[in-house]
Amino acid sequence: MDKETTAVVKQLLKSKKKIVVVGHKNPDGDAVGSCLGMSFFLNQLGHKSIVVMPNDFPDFLKWLPGCEDIVIHEKDTDVSIGLINEADLIFTLDFNSLSRVGELQQLLEDCDAKFVMVDHHQAPDDYAVVTYSDVAMSSTSEMVYHFMDALGELDALCVEVATHLYTGIMTDTGSFRFPSTTATTHRVIAHLMEIGANNAEIHQQVYDTNSADRMKLLGVALKNLNIIPEYHTAYITLSQKELDACNFRKGDTEGFVNYALSIAGIKFAVIFIENKQESIVKMSFRSKGDFSVNDFARNHYNGGGHINAAGGRSLASLSKTVTEFISILHGYKEELANAS
Ligand code: 5GP
Ligand code: MN
Repeated sequence: MDKETTAVVKQLLKSKKKIVVVGHKNPDGDAVGSCLGMSFFLNQLGHKSIVVMPNDFPDFLKWLPGCEDIVIHEKDTDVSIGLINEADLIFTLDFNSLSRVGELQQLLEDCDAKFVMVDHHQAPDDYAVVTYSDVAMSSTSEMVYHFMDALGELDALCVEVATHLYTGIMTDTGSFRFPSTTATTHRVIAHLMEIGANNAEIHQQVYDTNSADRMKLLGVALKNLNIIPEYHTAYITLSQKELDACNFRKGDTEGFVNYALSIAGIKFAVIFIENKQESIVKMSFRSKGDFSVNDFARNHYNGGGHINAAGGRSLASLSKTVTEFISILHGYKEELANAS
C-alpha cells in the first residue's frame, strides 16, 4: 500500500470508529479469511468492527476463529441493516464493484459511511475514499497483511488473524501453486506460521473434510465433462436435479472446474451450474496462460474476476447456455490456439 493511501487510512482510523467489513456474495476462503482477519485487526486497534456477508459461507470454513460472529444478511437481515446504517466506515474486501454483494447493494449505495476497498480483482469501481487495489496480489488476505504492515501494526498479528490470512491465501492460490503466488507471498506465509498459523491443520480442515455427497457430486461432474479439442476447451455441467440428488451444499462445487483445466492441452475450462432458485446458470471460468477469462466473462456474461479465474452468469436455461457458449467460443478459436 503506497504512502499516500496509508496516510488517508491512518487519518480515517485516528479516532475510534464503528466499522462493518463486507465480503462478496457466495463468499469463498479469501473473502471470509480476509474479512475476519481485517475485522479482528480493527478491533485490536480499538475500533468496533464486525463482518457482514450477503449470504452464507461454505461448511469447510466454519471452524475459522470468530466465524460464528459473522452476520449473514440473508438470515439476519434486520441486524445487518442496522449495522450498515450505523457504520462510520465500511470496508469492502475481495470485490471491487457493489454489484457483487447481491441484496446488500442498495443498502451500501444509500448509506452514509465512507468506504475502504481492499481488493485484487481487475478494474475497480470508484466508490471508496480509499482504494487499495492490486491485481498482482495473490489474494485479498495477503493484502490485509500488507495493509497491517503499511500501518506499522504487524505487532498486532495474533494467531487468529494469522490463521484467517493463511486460509485466505491458501485457498486463493490453489495451495500456493497459481502464478499469482510470489516469493513475497511465501515470506508472508512464513511469518504467519511463525505467529502460529498451523499449516497442516488448516489444510486438513479445508480440504480433508469432504462429505460423501460432495464426492458423489464430483463423480457426476466428471461424468459430464466435455472436451472440445479444437478450442483447447473443456467444460462441465451440473443441473439442479443432479445437485439435488447429491444434497448440494454451498461450497460443494468449489474447485471442480480445475479438473477440467488439468487436462493436457486444455487452456480454457468452464463449469456451468444451474441454480433454479435464482433462475440463473452460474459459470466459473479458468484458463492457463494469457487467455483472459476476465475479459471473456465481462464481455459475454456480465461477470469478471482475474485473468485466469473469473465468474459470470446466464439467464438462459442450462442447455441453451451451453449452446450459446459454444457459438461464442467460435469467435475465440484463433486466440485460444495462440494462447500460451
Ligand atoms: P468463482 O468462479 O470461483 O466463483 O470466481 C472466480 C473469481 O472471479 C473470483 O475471484 C470471484 O471473486 C470472481 N467472480 C466470480 N463471479 C463473478 C462475477 O459475477 N462478477 C465479477 N466481477 N467477478 C466474479
Ligand atoms: Mn480473492
